[in-house]
Amino acid sequence: MRKRVTPLLSEAQIQTRVQELGVQLTKDYAGKDLVVVGLLNGVFPFMADLVRAIDLDFDVSFMQVASYGGGLESTGEVHILKDTDRSIRGRHALVVEDIVDTGLTLFKVSNLLKDREPLSLRICTLLDKPSRRKVQVPVDYIGFTIEDHFVVGYGLDLDGKLRNLPYVGVYHP
Ligand code: 5GP
Repeated sequence: MRKRVTPLLSEAQIQTRVQELGVQLTKDYAGKDLVVVGLLNGVFPFMADLVRAIDLDFDVSFMQVASYGGGLESTGEVHILKDTDRSIRGRHALVVEDIVDTGLTLFKVSNLLKDREPLSLRICTLLDKPSRRKVQVPVDYIGFTIEDHFVVGYGLDLDGKLRNLPYVGVYHP
């Protein structure tokens, strides 16, 4: 499986960028009551590195949603498999995602979270594929903007596998 993967972002490139994002987030959320909400499953390595790069006291929580329809592309109909265990009402929420593709998942998730009346809601993604966007979602923090490739590794899967690669690579079927 991994023989079909061409490296795109090295472990070192990712770690450098994650530290930069951490510095930025530390500045932006200083003195604020922050809840960082990671979207499972793909976010787990990024989330683990990112939260350790933010030099503040804050809550960490996870949410897992599923798109109806399955396949490689999301349909925009999401249902909650696991909800956050920390309230975001009257607090600053930062949603962390592995990749924004069509934007449909985050569009739904942010509307859902906005109904819970956070003081602010921002989005941080490791990867952004703007050429594939179907709905506009404001993405406030972006690790890397990439071309329209199907990528795997550092949390991103191919049918559940390859999440453990320490780098991000393009999968060639
Ligand atoms: P969206 O709703 O923005 O189209 O989809 C976001 C989700 O689709 C991501 O969280 C991820 O699970 C999946 N996805 C989108 N592009 C890729 C990709 O290039 N590789 C992998 N492994 N998953 C992707």
